Amino acid sequence: MNEGKILVVEDEIPIRKLILFNLQRSNFEVLEAGEGKTALKLAKEEDLSLVVLDIMLPDMDGFEICTRLREKQPDLPIIILSARGQDMEKIMGLELGADDYIVKPFNPLELVARIRTVLRRTSRASQKIQPDKIKTGPFVLELKSQRVYKKGQLLKLTVREFELMKLFLERLNEPVTRDELLDEIWGLNYFGDPKTVDVNIRRLREKIEEDPSNPTFLKTVWGFGYAFYESESEG
Ligand code: CA
Repeated sequence: MNEGKILVVEDEIPIRKLILFNLQRSNFEVLEAGEGKTALKLAKEEDLSLVVLDIMLPDMDGFEICTRLREKQPDLPIIILSARGQDMEKIMGLELGADDYIVKPFNPLELVARIRTVLRRTSRASQKIQPDKIKTGPFVLELKSQRVYKKGQLLKLTVREFELMKLFLERLNEPVTRDELLDEIWGLNYFGDPKTVDVNIRRLREKIEEDPSNPTFLKTVWGFGYAFYESESEG
């Protein structure tokens, strides 16, 4: 389940490796560059989803790289890594038009979250491959109307349950942790605990499973979280 291809442009190796590690762990494919020349070359050759770009680099600064990337690929999302006190207006303003910036030192998990947000925003804007329906086994999920049907019967789901269902159908057969579900469905700033997830999963099971205590679709992955499987034996 590749989440996208990210180019990380940063000359400080420990920082670059830290970003790399966290992105790979979050299922991103990652390319790296320690200076501007390599960054521009990779951006030209590779089909990138997003660029994480440091400002202070040995051969040219991030501002110049950003401008040159924008000339060739106006739609390519760019997140700038900046030291405190660097010119935010220049970074976010018309001149460069970065999609977001993050100030050093930063929490790599926050960077991953920002990347996801920018990717979601920009892919929604381009609406390239967004289907209007997801079909899996007996389920049909309509994205526009936010409805889910099982064997043609409309299920009465809450907004959270719909979001959960959508996430699981988009990531079929892929175990998802409670923390990730909390982040994705409830948002990073949600002050809840993972039990919230369990409660909502239980309710969702009651609506989608024949036997909620012995689920065939939405299964518990012990010590990890949950995964949604397309059932073959559905009768
Ligand atoms: Ca640097």
